[in-house]
Amino acid sequence: MSQTAIITGGGSGLGQSTAKKLAEQGINIAVVDIDEEGGQETVEIVKQAGADATFIKADVSKEKDVKNYVDQTVEQFGSIDYFFNNAGISGSGQYFLDTDIEEIDKIVGINLLGALYGMHYVADVMVKNGGGSIVNTSSSAGVIGQDTVVTYSATKHGIVGMTKSMVAEYAKDGLRVNAIAPGPTETPMVKQYFDNNPQMKENAEQGIPQKRLGTPEEVAELVTFLLTSNVGYVNGDVIRIDGGFTNTK
Ligand code: NAD
Repeated sequence: MSQTAIITGGGSGLGQSTAKKLAEQGINIAVVDIDEEGGQETVEIVKQAGADATFIKADVSKEKDVKNYVDQTVEQFGSIDYFFNNAGISGSGQYFLDTDIEEIDKIVGINLLGALYGMHYVADVMVKNGGGSIVNTSSSAGVIGQDTVVTYSATKHGIVGMTKSMVAEYAKDGLRVNAIAPGPTETPMVKQYFDNNPQMKENAEQGIPQKRLGTPEEVAELVTFLLTSNVGYVNGDVIRIDGGFTNTK
């Protein structure tokens, strides 16, 4: 029987490249995103790769939208085997004391509450079905401290805590939950920013032992490996994919 993955933030960047990679393995994809255009583009990419896909519009910071994308996926595909809990936003890049409260609420709402809501409803389906595999998107800012990203870093450290603690409670029920911690990766958002600020790109690259940014395809390889490979004894781990950046800090 064919398998199904839900990908949040599936309409762009890491979500879109992972959708393509999973589809190449014949896995059907529920593409969840707030952005309809990007989501539909991913649906086409998945179909071209030979799998089935549906777009479900959701704001992951809204509990009702999250419950809906889980219900819709089960209704359409019958099961949820894999979950890439990935939607997220960055901040304005200001120092914390200059950040307004609305920005703090927004980042926490999408990056942390959104990921927790998704975990709550998806894991419930998986546990009832005997298990499943989940990858949560943390960040370099989820494993080290950095300036100008205090709220973002708080949410991404939260993702690490959620990952480990879920395993403590539900590994016995067949759940595998891991996290990835990417460094700067050339997704459309980051690429556009660096195209407009070439000096910032050079500074970022110089700080990375491999002297380059990551690619979405590299991250998709890692997520696909964590979700679908037979290395089923990897659980509660946080895998860094950052060209050696955080391990040399
Ligand atoms: P991206 O902007 O290309 O993709 C993010 C997607 O999430 C977009 O399609 C966007 O529409 C969607 N999204 C945003 N808010 C949403 C909401 N409220 N509800 C539903 N969908 C929403 O960015 P990306 O680089 O692919 O980021 C994906 C994840 O990777 C994020 O969690 C980000 O924090 C994390 N990350 C990215 C990098 C990087 O350098 N690109 C590094 C570390 C971690």
